[in-house]
Amino acid sequence: IISSLISILGRYLKPLINMKSGSVIPDHGTLSSLRIATKLQFGSDALKMASTDFGKIITSNIPSAVLFPSHIADIVNLITLSYNSTTPIPIAARGHGHSVRGQATARDGVVVDMKSLSYNNVGTRVSWSTSLGFYADVGGEQLWIDVLRATLNRGLAPVSWTDYLYLTVGGTLSNAGMSGQAFHYGPQISNVHELDVITGKGEFFTCSKHINSELFYAVLGGLGQFGIITRARIVLDKAPKRVKWVRMLYHDFSAFTRDQEHLISIFGLDYVEGHLLMNQSSANNWRSSFFSPNDVSNIASLLGQHKIIYCLEVVKYYDDLTVHTIDKELQKLLEGLSFNPGFMFKKDVTLMDFLNRVRSGELQLQSQGLWDVPHPWLNLFIPKSQIFEFHEGVIVNMIHARNITRGLVLLYPTNRKRWDDRMSAVTPDEDIFYSVGLLLSGDNENWKAMDDQNNDILEFCEKAGIRVKQYLPHYTTRKEWINHFGEKWSIFQERKSLFDPKMILSPGQRIFQSV
Ligand code: FAD
Repeated sequence: IISSLISILGRYLKPLINMKSGSVIPDHGTLSSLRIATKLQFGSDALKMASTDFGKIITSNIPSAVLFPSHIADIVNLITLSYNSTTPIPIAARGHGHSVRGQATARDGVVVDMKSLSYNNVGTRVSWSTSLGFYADVGGEQLWIDVLRATLNRGLAPVSWTDYLYLTVGGTLSNAGMSGQAFHYGPQISNVHELDVITGKGEFFTCSKHINSELFYAVLGGLGQFGIITRARIVLDKAPKRVKWVRMLYHDFSAFTRDQEHLISIFGLDYVEGHLLMNQSSANNWRSSFFSPNDVSNIASLLGQHKIIYCLEVVKYYDDLTVHTIDKELQKLLEGLSFNPGFMFKKDVTLMDFLNRVRSGELQLQSQGLWDVPHPWLNLFIPKSQIFEFHEGVIVNMIHARNITRGLVLLYPTNRKRWDDRMSAVTPDEDIFYSVGLLLSGDNENWKAMDDQNNDILEFCEKAGIRVKQYLPHYTTRKEWINHFGEKWSIFQERKSLFDPKMILSPGQRIFQSV
């Protein structure tokens, strides 16, 4: 068995092993090679899975092997072997593979399937301390839906979310983790007390604002460049039982954005988002089916009169104590808004149903074969002062006029003061900026046209001087990355040389030269 493992390692992971007169002399140590050898897979199914992602656009970043770790020591061993090798091998953590541009791939390297840790790792453990209050220690490989289930069992829940919960904790913390709660609580990266991280040198550290803080700030929003997150200690709060969920429709973009900006400036709501309705089928979309058939036909006639309808979406949480006052409170919060009269719609659902709202749409699309399709997504942050210019130039003159966009367009403002500038994540430099998500679904024929439109959008913004920042960024040149990070580029580079000097980690982001 040992000799066949050695031969497998020799064949597929040559850079890790020096072959000398038939014997194997690993750079790090034979034992650790053998320990991980049993957890490496080289078969076509594993390699195919690890070569692509939700985007279905990048498919040719084929790794040499996939590691299915059962313990974090397996990842430490793999990275240490690579780090100590004269020709380090690229390594990418793959959370749930819900990137859209191959960010979790490692061509000719090793992809670490983080989800296989879930059988033997941290899981989700809820605790309390006088200094932190309630918090959860969560494995980096955990899906947010599982974190929600585990914490709800204790009457608690994290405070900041993504719209979709089948994403891993490590994957979203490597970006930011944005949804309609962020205006109040900040993105998910602003709600982390502590992390366990394996750096690109194979060193394991616990880090926080107070211990190993440089690593802590580097990793949050760090696009997987500085280390693999194996545990996150995240903020919890008492979970509300139910939520009042309201949608209001506007035909006037300036009234829509004015009301959104007002709502994120006051205290009281728990979630504020917005999206666009541009064709008859867009009232109920994959992100949630909300409207009754009767509502849908009213909305269709509104859409007949105006080319674009803007849907403002808010939520207020409540529980047994506030059940008798919630309606009045909500009414007061929404007083004076300028939505189209008669176009306010309300729902009353459990917290789970609200937070997990995208799942039913996903299952429906899956059953129709429409989920595993190309997704040429473009996510942008736009400074508040330039949102009208963006709306006219991009939403009206490109997206609506060309009518090739299939999918959903999100548009909502958020508060920059809830972000911590010491973290790697990048935002525009205004107090309020808009998150715009072009969440497009294509097929093998039409996705390229949508992607060309994305390039036109970026070109338009550049020419018009709109200071956009890409969220879940994708660039192909070093110059673009330098421009993306702006003032943060030098610190980003310094942190790379500190924590991953051999540039081993997350090569699929294409920021540094792949090894
Ligand atoms: P992967 O795609 O597997 O990995 C992403 C990157 O993180 C890669 O570079 C990878 O190497 C790195 N990585 C993965 N795990 C770790 C780890 N443990 N430690 C260090 N690095 C790691 N984002 C939002 O902010 N808000 C949303 O509402 C939202 N909704 C979405 C809905 C859908 C349907 C999809 C497909 C995506 C959505 N996203 C959203 C984007 C999503 O947050 C990111 O793509 C995220 O990276 C996906 O998590 P993942 O676990 O699939 O990561």
